[in-house]
Amino acid sequence: MKAKDSIRDIKGIGEKSEKLFRKLGITTVEELLAFYPREYDIYTKIQPVLTVQEGETVILEGSFPARLKMASVRGLKIITGQFRDSSGQILISWFNMPYLMKTVKVGMHYILRGKIVRKNGFLQMAQPKILTKEEYANQLGKLQPVYSLTAGLTNNAVKKAVSLALAEYEFESDFLPLEIRKRYNLLLHKKAVQAIHFPESREAYAKARSRLVFEEFFLFSLALRQMKEQKDKMTSIYKIESGSSVEQLFKALPFCLTTGQQNAWEDVRRDLQSGFVMNRLIQGDVGSGKTVVALLALVCAAENGHQGAIMVPTEVLAKQHYEEFMKYLEPIGIRTALLVGSMTAARKREVSARIAAKEVDIIVGTHALIQEKVAYADLALIVTDEQHRFGVRQREMLSEKGQSPHTLVMSATPIPRTLAIILYGDLDVSVIDVLPANRLPIKNCAVGTDYRPQAYRFMEKQVAMGHQVYIICPMVEESEAMEAENVIDYTNSLRDALSASIRIENLHGKMKASKKNEIMEAFSRGEIDILVSTTVIEVGINVPNATVMMVENAERFGLAQLHQLRGRVGRGEAQSYCIFMAGNTSKETMERLRILENSNDGFYVAKQDLQLRGPGDLFGIRQSGDLYFQMADIYQDANELQQANEAACAVGKDGAALLCRKYEGLRRIMEEYTGDIKTL
Ligand code: ADP
Ligand code: MG
Repeated sequence: MKAKDSIRDIKGIGEKSEKLFRKLGITTVEELLAFYPREYDIYTKIQPVLTVQEGETVILEGSFPARLKMASVRGLKIITGQFRDSSGQILISWFNMPYLMKTVKVGMHYILRGKIVRKNGFLQMAQPKILTKEEYANQLGKLQPVYSLTAGLTNNAVKKAVSLALAEYEFESDFLPLEIRKRYNLLLHKKAVQAIHFPESREAYAKARSRLVFEEFFLFSLALRQMKEQKDKMTSIYKIESGSSVEQLFKALPFCLTTGQQNAWEDVRRDLQSGFVMNRLIQGDVGSGKTVVALLALVCAAENGHQGAIMVPTEVLAKQHYEEFMKYLEPIGIRTALLVGSMTAARKREVSARIAAKEVDIIVGTHALIQEKVAYADLALIVTDEQHRFGVRQREMLSEKGQSPHTLVMSATPIPRTLAIILYGDLDVSVIDVLPANRLPIKNCAVGTDYRPQAYRFMEKQVAMGHQVYIICPMVEESEAMEAENVIDYTNSLRDALSASIRIENLHGKMKASKKNEIMEAFSRGEIDILVSTTVIEVGINVPNATVMMVENAERFGLAQLHQLRGRVGRGEAQSYCIFMAGNTSKETMERLRILENSNDGFYVAKQDLQLRGPGDLFGIRQSGDLYFQMADIYQDANELQQANEAACAVGKDGAALLCRKYEGLRRIMEEYTGDIKTL
């Protein structure tokens, strides 16, 4: 069996399963083998009934002192029975397994494995599997792969397919050269793939993962290096000098640049006039003031007679940037346009025509900038804001709208400079590492729901002082519709709880873009006092007059996301506050939220979060969803990243080395990988 063979060649996979696998993006044997488990199921030791806790999957040993009972609830057959060991007893329930009435015997010894849930206030074990002594002994301590599935496809089916494929697959010789494998103590690719699906132990899993993480970083780093090499050589037809418009903009700004902003701007200015194409990342925590640097660059392009475009991830943010830009650009005669998906077709056509006729200098927009049929007359500079929300591919697509325009990328992903340089290896990096001096650090508190009345009184006070408030409602996993309902309900009860003079509105994902914009604008203008919202508010919104943020069910969010959310306040001169309200005040929850209470530094938060979880908990869980790795995690695997990058540098130095025999396998995979990056 070879890499590109269809999964149909695997025994047991017919037309029906093929379709299901395709839904998961799997059509070839190679893709199946690269479909790593999402997590692992581990059979733990038999536990006394008395010690079980809600949410755990446990194994119990004991017997049923009395006969099982069966009841019919809405057509569902439910079987229940008390299960007892020497420590105590617990209710067991099964549904739709009526045959158990006959097979399960009173007084016999059983080993059960199942999840402990709480029902009507009591703990019970739901839908357990009955294990034989042999099954238990065989599985104890072993890791069973758990795959991400799609309806109709069972975990067992995937497991079987993978195991059959592994047995018949002819792995090619390892593409990582022996020296590298030796130096970094890495498994063979083949061994790693086998062990990642069916690890014999935690140690085996860790070794397998380490190899696969290394290779992901290694290929990524190598591919980026090649992209950078190509770009580095590229001369630009746009040699742009900053002149009087930039001077005027500086005069009009209500603040002086921080040293971080100054340095970033210097870097950009130098790039723009260098005669080579700029490829620069500006990295700075939320609120560090990246926008103004982008604006300076855009003005610079405009005053040299060219066009510049800035792409942002949401319409609300596009509108906001547009309006902010207009304030400065109109007086100095720079023509600005907005292009977003929700505009009418006629309006879009009109804007596009003006862009094509070069009647517009600066264009602010969303994905519409690449999706709509816009022909840019003279696009010399593109900016992508909140790059972590876009793929590399989208950035490239915008870039293709011009003739190798200068590229500026802005991101708030909190990673240290050393990592940024590797991860954005195709870009030069400027870091804005200071916040504007007029900022007071946000005051944070993590509290339980009993604090809510006080929180409401506090909001009333802040509103009376002329400030504004955000309340973030928890995500509802089931659907956007339920999430919307939740936000609406919350808003209604908030209106009842607070003084009638307070203007409360809400914002959620189900709303039309135009409605969202309307609300956001009203909030920006100060016509709404309290905005109840889902996380749609997260990205880049800037309302400096908002001083309070309260996050309901804060325990349901990742710390990095909470940090991003918190970035919506503390953007002006007034003292800002963030209230993280936890739905449960368990020790772990509060400990995690305290990290946010103790620091406003995004990188510190990300790192602490990781340490608290500890490597044990990271079993197959991905932390950061915004970068481009399947298995690797930039925080958890920072060491591997450094090493892989070092190895990639060593290979890359000797350009010809890639071509020589020992790197042949590597080169082939690289070619594919570079292709992948472009389609991200
Ligand atoms: P981010 O880096 O998160 O994109 P923004 O560019 O939106 O941050 O800036 C946040 C706020 O800080 C804005 O209101 C902006 O006008 C203000 N700001 C930017 N630079 C400075 C500065 N040097 N001094 C004071 N305020 C600033
Ligand atoms: Mg921003």
